[in-house]
Amino acid sequence: MPQALPTWLTPQQFFQAVEEMRAVVGKEWVVSEDGPALRSYRDAFSPEDDDVFLPSAAVAPDGVEQIQKILKIANDYRVPLWTISSGKNFAYGGPAPRKAGHVVLDLKRMNRILEVNEEFGYALVEPGVTYFQLYEYIQKKGYKLWIDCAAPGWGSVLGNTLEHGVGYTPYGDHYMMHCGMEVVLADGTLLRTGQGSLPGTQCWQLFQYGFGPVLDGIFTQSNFGIVTKMGIWLMPEPPGYMPFMITYEREEDLHAITEAVRPLKVNMLIPNGAFTVGLLWEASIKTTRAQYGDPKKPLPESAMKKIMADHKLGMWNFYAALYGPKPMMDNTFKVVRDALGAIPGAKFYFDEDRKGDPSWDYRVKLMRGIPNMTEFNMSNWVPGAGAHVDFSPISPTRGDDAMRQYQMIKTRANEHGFDYIGEFAVGWRDMHHVFSLTFDRSDADERRRARELFNVLIDEAAQAGYGEYRTHLAFMDKIAGTYNWNDGALWKLHHRLKDALDPNGILAPGKMGIWPQHMREENV
Ligand code: ADP
Repeated sequence: MPQALPTWLTPQQFFQAVEEMRAVVGKEWVVSEDGPALRSYRDAFSPEDDDVFLPSAAVAPDGVEQIQKILKIANDYRVPLWTISSGKNFAYGGPAPRKAGHVVLDLKRMNRILEVNEEFGYALVEPGVTYFQLYEYIQKKGYKLWIDCAAPGWGSVLGNTLEHGVGYTPYGDHYMMHCGMEVVLADGTLLRTGQGSLPGTQCWQLFQYGFGPVLDGIFTQSNFGIVTKMGIWLMPEPPGYMPFMITYEREEDLHAITEAVRPLKVNMLIPNGAFTVGLLWEASIKTTRAQYGDPKKPLPESAMKKIMADHKLGMWNFYAALYGPKPMMDNTFKVVRDALGAIPGAKFYFDEDRKGDPSWDYRVKLMRGIPNMTEFNMSNWVPGAGAHVDFSPISPTRGDDAMRQYQMIKTRANEHGFDYIGEFAVGWRDMHHVFSLTFDRSDADERRRARELFNVLIDEAAQAGYGEYRTHLAFMDKIAGTYNWNDGALWKLHHRLKDALDPNGILAPGKMGIWPQHMREENV
């Protein structure tokens, strides 16, 4: 039975709509009974109770035509659909919809790799194609191409890109590296963006723009359409790869590291996503809190020293890599060493120094696009049902901002009974500061405190001029409300687009705080 249906739908209507969808996709591709299959679509990391984001059904179409037929049914009955590609977007909501009573549109069956082009370095994929799958395909074919994957690698290329996900190679900004989309609108219209709209084009995956406005962005982090194909650029395998790690002993070194990294990144001397990783992020990959203190409380400073000594770690651990012919890497490395090595206490590590160390090994894989699941170890940090929601404010790559964000988040986290587990990912000019709020989701009080902390952080970050780049279902409305320059002009435009493109409000109501007209007053 459905959980809590939207007010305008009777159980009979919902049942009828699901029956009609069953006729479209075949009965084995619809789940509507409450049970393990439906509950697999819940958010396993949710800071809320289990039923808050539980869908009432899930339907898995196998192609654009079936999607169009499902959309027709959803429009007829005004049944909300929540689109997922692989549904592994954990820490930001997983496969679950914003509200109980919605139907998950699960695109896992649409998992064809339509093209990999070695000459130009790109792939054209359907939504369900995962990083593991694309990597294995390229290996099997022997193409000299690298992918750029998220950690962990079981997510989809398309879903991660639509969420503005970032990776670890020089192609780490996934949206920047996408090229061309195919989209189905709520009314069933099928369109292609960029060069893809020119019949017979040879350039759909080569040139991002078309003729007129660039619309790809409106289909990311939104509920304006269902993306059914996407091109993604792939990096040609370079002749050399030199990953390195630098440890720093003191908390306040974050300032100097960030100041040293900025010119290296802005001038493209470090070409890949450069990560300054906090001690406990590193520790959570290979040990547990219980080994160093009270499993239910944040670790004290004294435990930090012991973890550093036991695991040859710093308070901050900087990871990056160089790529290319050896003489070029050697030359660039001199500049990197002079800048980052000038900070007192800096210790450099290379492959031969840390082989077999899980946190080194998985970073070395990620920085050359080998998907893996090591980062999932993080859930073992706390006892019980380990989970995390990520608070991810954007920051200038500047020492003052890094220290300010770090101190603010660490203080608030400790006050609420949580560790600071964080990293700063420098893309180009900005940093994604990811604070992994790790908690025991079987403990109702921890869930409550996690939500409370998250809400405080949103407010304090916004007051200081920092906005989040992505968020969990539970916080979408609140964060959307912080992007309110000029009386919420952007929020209003999002809603004008929503009303025009999806008047019945059937696509992902509430995604990023964008609600259909008839649900707005109720929710926002
Ligand atoms: P991942 O594959 O990284 O696990 P998900 O499948 O969980 O990602 O998708 C993340 C989010 O991106 C979804 O909640 C949804 O809002 C959006 N999304 C995913 N796939 C699509 C799609 N094909 N079209 C439109 N939005 C999508």
